[in-house]
Amino acid sequence: MNQPVVYIVVPCYNEEAVLPETFRRLRAKLEQLISAGKADNRSRLLFVNDGSKDRTWALIAEAHAQCPLISGLDLSRNRGHQNALLAGLLTARERADAVISMDADLQDDVDAVDAMVDKFREGCDIVYGVRSSRASDTFFKRFTAEAFYRLMSLLGANVVFNHADYRLMSRRALDGLAEFREANLFLRGIVPMIGYRTGTVEYERGVRFAGESKYPLKKMISFAMEGITSLSTKPLKMITALGFLIFLVSIAMLAYSIVRWAMGETILGWASLICSIWAIGGLILLSLGVIGEYIGKIYLETKGRPRFLIREVLEDNPPSQD
Ligand code: UDP
Ligand code: MG
Repeated sequence: MNQPVVYIVVPCYNEEAVLPETFRRLRAKLEQLISAGKADNRSRLLFVNDGSKDRTWALIAEAHAQCPLISGLDLSRNRGHQNALLAGLLTARERADAVISMDADLQDDVDAVDAMVDKFREGCDIVYGVRSSRASDTFFKRFTAEAFYRLMSLLGANVVFNHADYRLMSRRALDGLAEFREANLFLRGIVPMIGYRTGTVEYERGVRFAGESKYPLKKMISFAMEGITSLSTKPLKMITALGFLIFLVSIAMLAYSIVRWAMGETILGWASLICSIWAIGGLILLSLGVIGEYIGKIYLETKGRPRFLIREVLEDNPPSQD
């Protein structure tokens, strides 16, 4: 069997502090895979420069000149982690059988690559790198990140718990990914929608090797919002439910008013006022929710997601190629 061509895609934004070490470690890993006969010698490391303001691209170009295993992709400007990653994945797709994505900061254990490639060779199309512990994260990062995963699944977005963007995807899975034409990109929510056979590999997440996190709280919150709003229309359903609930309160208020009236404690005008406040509030929310449901449907339609991806066709009469 031919060895698979493996690409490792690394998005980089202002990573000059860590890149020399990343080059060294990933290069050693890839050389090891090639010499162990697990990967073809056309395998490459693909570094994507996401409009960095420092010497990141210069370092990538230098490394490329010195080592044929290192290639680079320079984006026109900063487009954000997810877009940079997608650019790298779709570029590598045309050249590779399997593509692994990884952060530049060496927080993801490079040695998990072997297990990922093994799973790919066993027939998995997508292999998720899953953090076995978050001991190395600060309490704050751990707390916010785990709250984020819980909130996501509560709101109906299907994400793999404790999996970031460290994963392997086969060419077939990437072809599937390319069919998702949405502009609001939240890869870790879309990838599970692709399907095919998947596997997971556990690894210990370390601390950033050098440099600062490129995800300050502000970016993290907007990332979480992006994830929820681009994957799920459940928040709209919640409005409908809330409207219904408040309408029920108005009925309860009516019952309460009748009881008070029966007990002879009536304040003139109070009952009709309080009941209509709750009733009108509830009805307004309910109708907003219903309108929202339709807008949600329109929203999902505009994404033009693929309705199916085919794993395999068994037939003895394939369509002609011309
Ligand atoms: N990154 C990027 N573009 C951006 C922000 C980040 O390509 O606008 C890259 C960054 O270089 C790194 C990865 O995304 O390789 C993850 O960023 P970071 O490690 O800072 O995030 P954290 O691990 O702190 O969540
Ligand atoms: Mg990091």
